[in-house]
Amino acid sequence: MDLILASQSSTRWRILSCARIIAKAVSPQIDEENITRSLMAEKAMPRDIADTLAEHKAKKVSIKNPLSWVLGCDQVLDFEGKVFGKPKTQEDLRQSLIRLSGETHRLITANVMYHNTKPMWRHISVSHMTMHPMTVTEIETYVEKSWPDAQHSAGGYYFEKTPHLFSEVRGNWFDIMGLSIGPIAEYLNQHVNGSVFNAPTVAAVLGHPIAHSKSPCMHGHWLETNKISGSYIAIDIPPGKLFQTVKVLIGAGVMGFNVTLPHKEDALALADYQTPRAKAIGAANTLVVDLKGSITADNTDGYGFITNLKVNSSDWFPQAGSALVLGAGGASRAVLSSLIEAGAPKIYLSNRTLQRAKDVALQLSPLIEVIDWEDKERYLSTVTTVVNTTSLGMTGKPPLEIDLSSINPKAMVTDLVYTPLETPFLVQARSFGCSVVGGVGMLLHQGTPGFEAWFGTCPIVDSEVEALVLK
Ligand code: NAP
Repeated sequence: MDLILASQSSTRWRILSCARIIAKAVSPQIDEENITRSLMAEKAMPRDIADTLAEHKAKKVSIKNPLSWVLGCDQVLDFEGKVFGKPKTQEDLRQSLIRLSGETHRLITANVMYHNTKPMWRHISVSHMTMHPMTVTEIETYVEKSWPDAQHSAGGYYFEKTPHLFSEVRGNWFDIMGLSIGPIAEYLNQHVNGSVFNAPTVAAVLGHPIAHSKSPCMHGHWLETNKISGSYIAIDIPPGKLFQTVKVLIGAGVMGFNVTLPHKEDALALADYQTPRAKAIGAANTLVVDLKGSITADNTDGYGFITNLKVNSSDWFPQAGSALVLGAGGASRAVLSSLIEAGAPKIYLSNRTLQRAKDVALQLSPLIEVIDWEDKERYLSTVTTVVNTTSLGMTGKPPLEIDLSSINPKAMVTDLVYTPLETPFLVQARSFGCSVVGGVGMLLHQGTPGFEAWFGTCPIVDSEVEALVLK
């Protein structure tokens, strides 16, 4: 199929790619401002303005490329019958937010397909967007922080960057992004020979901060290698805003989430259903949304931890002997829970802050015995599994100070830290003959259950995806 997208918008081109639709992008070079102004002077309805602009773009490119299928798109923001454009100045942005704050506006997305210089198909979608009321201070902060981005977007916001500004959304993610990919795929399947496209599924990782997250790279790779119609994005959600924002994103058709710090406890609390392992750990890292909008919260960290060890240390048996776990933070709870589930007969837990370890042990299992941080080396000769779940040893952090000279050489030693790939702790354990396993495999394996639930395929953890996340 020879498809041209009559637009230079990288977002629209990316949406087509998500659906695995290959298109050439050509700029239509039309005078959008002039056309909009004259349509407004004629009191045209906002949806007619969007449709006319989409048509102009498709037509102009089709005239030069009559044999191609040409897709033109446009989006306008309609509030009470008035079209809101891109803010030209910071004052414009301020006024726009004052008007939209606490109100519902509509995003109208128009799509027109041309072939042989004739319109073949048109589709208009409408998304209903309700903004939270914003105080004067919130508006000022937003204008100051977001102006470089805001000036390129109708109404002055990018929904994918600031979904927490909204209290309710009724629409579709891709319509809101500017292209109605579901109906486009359906049209192509029916009218263009050889087309078999699916509307993409959307999933996201939510956290604060989120820019460092490896998840988009990992899931993006799996989408690509499995040729799946889908998109996985990272969204920064400020603390305390998870509950409302997840509802808003579900309203926009997002079907799954990974959740990271500081939202893991909130993610468990907001769900309609909790898996037993998420409940036991007291936090969730994976949310699956069903077709009715119900949310199931899971915690796959323990699964990732155990699978990493099974894959990379084939003669390790958790049942073979006691374990020593260092650290009692969030990740430790998942490790402890999964070790108990895997059959570890006893676990010694040591943490700098003793009370934190006591609380965790009390909550999780009587098989956990809390020991003093200073005593941790005394147990090394008797255990067959040793786990570092503290952040010590991570690049930029102090090393984990521990003398492993008394360690049982048959013990398997693992570290959750994966930068560096082999921490000084693991280097020392290796020097005493222990088998060692780094933490990157846990990161990769914890991602597979979510991917399978959202996109329908269990992805493969291999050296290619490992190299990508370590880049
Ligand atoms: P967390 O909840 O903040 O817990 C941090 C742990 O490290 C606590 O036990 C803390 O002890 C201990 N700690 C920090 N500084 C210490 C010091 N100077 N001396 C002694 N103990 C110290 O963090 P988390 O979420 O559990 O994560 C812990 C580590 O695991 C991080 O490096 C994280 O990147 C890694 N992780 C890896 C994976 C993976 O997939 N490989 C998954 C999750 C986490 P106190 O209680 O005394 O503060």
